[in-house]
This record gives sequence, C-alpha cells and structure tokens, in this order.
Amino acid sequence: MHFTDYGVSLLTDNLCRISNQCSCETFNEDTQESTPSEYCFGDCWDDSLHLFEIDTQDLRDISDTWVVEGLPLWNRTIRGSFTIKNAADLLRGITVNSDWTLRYKVTPTHIWCYLSHHDAAGSFKAYPVIEDSE
Ligand SMILES: [Zn+2]
Repeated sequence: MHFTDYGVSLLTDNLCRISNQCSCETFNEDTQESTPSEYCFGDCWDDSLHLFEIDTQDLRDISDTWVVEGLPLWNRTIRGSFTIKNAADLLRGITVNSDWTLRYKVTPTHIWCYLSHHDAAGSFKAYPVIEDSE
C-alpha cells in the first residue's frame, strides 16, 4: 500500500521516528550482534527526545500555543489546542496515553505526523499558532 497524505509519503520520505517503547540494545561480544535489551538503560528515550527537541526548536520558538488536527484515537480523530513549555510537552500533545510510535517530518510551518498505537494509526499535523496579544 502506498500511503501518502499532506504531501508526505511514508514510503519515500525519510521520516524521523520516536517511540515511547524501549529501543535499547545490548551488544553481544561473542556474536558481534546487537539485540533488543531486556532492560531499559533509559538512554533510548533521552536520545529520541533530544532529537525531537532539536528538530522542533524553530517551530516551538514561534509560539507556546499549538493546534493538533486529526490525531487518531480508537474511534475518532481529534482537533485540539494545547500549551507547551518544552519539547516533552509538545510530544505529549501529539501522542496518546499508551504505547506509541510516531513518525514525523518538520516543515517551516508545521509538523507532519504519523502516529501508530494499539487502537489506531493515522496521519495528522500539528502547528504553532500566534495568539492575539490582547
Ligand atoms: Zn530503553
């Protein structure tokens, strides 16, 4: 299946990937192979979050208020706005409260996202909005 939406293709575009499931690996000296670790060293999340932090810096500088459009839940998609203080807040606003994997691409105006989790998967976008100062 060739999935494409918002002008971005899951197959052809090189999307960043972040997951809240552990991706730690252990290196076996004997076989010279890395395998998924049974134990999380904690680094996997820190590393992914750090990349997400760098990738989204320019967009987060635009505004603390964000809108998410089309976030896939099990029975519907949602549109909503939320306020962020940092990259972790932004990530919370565009993911769900279970195991998830997010693929994303940052553009000058928004983040294109593809989120998959237990109950659903789908593409959506999130972007900063500048509020009236009054
Ligand atoms: Zn880990």
